[in-house]
Order: sequence, then C-alpha cells, then structure tokens
Amino acid sequence: MALIHLFRKCNQHCVFCSWPQEEGRGGDADMRGWLKEMASMPPGLVQISGGEPLLAGAYNLCLLLAAARKLGSKAELQTNALAAADMPAVDLVKIVRALNAAGGYFNVNFPASSPETDFKITRASGGFNKRLAGVRRLIKAGAEVRLTHVVNSLNYRALPAFAAFAAKKLKGAGWIQFSYIKGVGRAEGSRFLPKYGAVRPYLEKALAAAGKNNIHCEVDHIPPCFLGEFYRLNVDMAKMKGKVKGPHLQEKKHVPACRGCRFFKLCPGPRKDYIAVHKTL
Ligand code: SF4
Repeated sequence: MALIHLFRKCNQHCVFCSWPQEEGRGGDADMRGWLKEMASMPPGLVQISGGEPLLAGAYNLCLLLAAARKLGSKAELQTNALAAADMPAVDLVKIVRALNAAGGYFNVNFPASSPETDFKITRASGGFNKRLAGVRRLIKAGAEVRLTHVVNSLNYRALPAFAAFAAKKLKGAGWIQFSYIKGVGRAEGSRFLPKYGAVRPYLEKALAAAGKNNIHCEVDHIPPCFLGEFYRLNVDMAKMKGKVKGPHLQEKKHVPACRGCRFFKLCPGPRKDYIAVHKTL
C-alpha cells in the first residue's frame, strides 16, 4: 500500500485534516512529479490523496489512473466528493471509467448525517448537500464507493444516525468504514479525540443497524476490545493474521492495559496519538 499526496489544495477545512493545507506540497498540478513518485512505489494499492484530488481535473486524474493501471496497481481515490456534484458529466464519467479500469474505488470522506454537524467538521458551507449529490452522481456513473466516516468528538453520538442515513440516502455505496480520528496534523493533541469507551455504545448500535440493512462495515483505529461482538470488523486483525507490514505497526503500540488481552497477537494496540492524549485505553 502506498500513498501519494497530489497537492495541498482543498475545498474544505476539516478540523481533523491529517495533512493541513499550510504544510507540504504546493497547490498546483505536477504531473511529472506524480508519475515519478508513482513509478517508485511498490505495486499494490495506491491511495491517491490531496488536499482534494478531484481538483486536479479529469485530464490529470485519468493520466494518473492509467499510469497506476500500467504499473499493476489498484487505485483508491480519496475525496470529499464536493467537486463531483458540479463537474461536467463527461468528465465525471471519464474519471469513473479510468478508476474502474484500474480496479479501483472512491474513498469518500462523509463525516456527518446532518448539514449542521457536517459544517462544524468541514467548515464547508453547503458541503453536506453537495457531498450527498456528488456521491449519488458517482454511484449513478458506475463507481464503487466506500464511505469513510471519521469518528470524532463532534459526531460520535450520531453514529447510529449515520448508519440509518447511509441506508436510506446513500443506497448503492459499497461499504462504510468507521475510522477513528487520527491525532495528527490539525487534530494533534486535540479535544476532537473521544475516549474509545465513550464511542463504543454508539458504534455498536451503528454497526448493528448497518448489519440489519445489509451494509458491510469495517472499523479502523478502534481496537477490537472496544467493539464487543463486532470485533471481527477491525481491519488490523486480518493484517496481523497475515503478518502484513504497514503503517498500523508504526502508528500503534501495546500499552500496559493490553497485558493478558485475548486479542494481543491480533491487535497492534491503540494509536500512539490516542495514548498521547488519553494516557491509557
Ligand atoms: S491488545 Fe490492547 S488495544 Fe488491542 S484489543 Fe487488546 S487490550 Fe485492546
């Protein structure tokens, strides 16, 4: 798995952005640099991120996705989907076709089931309705869509509402990943990281509701010991079982409270940035 940040340009200003616009690469397209970076990556899953990748435009994205395909990589296009609401249909279809040809999918950051919470998190005026329209257009154009719901202190009590919203309003989305906020970038050491124990009852309700509606879910960055009967949905467990190397091993670490845990060998522990804020599980 490899990650490429195209640029820092973005049409949102999320409170949890792990790669704030004030850092890193500039705001312009750099096709030569992107292709070079992609060619140096191992084949496998390439995650195309930003800023907001759709702001690179259809022409650039199609070139990039064709390159990924040629390198034998599967592509994940990470997006907030706002630009998909307004983009000319011909461009949208071109991107969807190029992504499908690269065996890929859109990973849409969908942080809320209400406009009010969406705005609190993304600071994008009108973002909620645009995102909804954008995702629906992607699905209609034949894209596979994963919804990533970043669990944070502003939305965790509404996790069951999000599961119900997805079942009703986002039919056709492939699956939901409930991904606990990373305490890095703009969220480093912040008040946006709720305790796992506080999230647990809401998350369990959301996972049960999604299951009833036949929506597949997975959970990242919340250890299996906080998932009750849904512990198998934790994405690290399969990686640990398969002895897969990756960022989960660098970002997470066992803590004294892990001693004696039945998941010890299948869980790399909590995120280090979570422990930096909360000290223990
Ligand atoms: S190893 Fe630690 S973090 Fe992981 S499930 Fe067990 S107690 Fe929880």
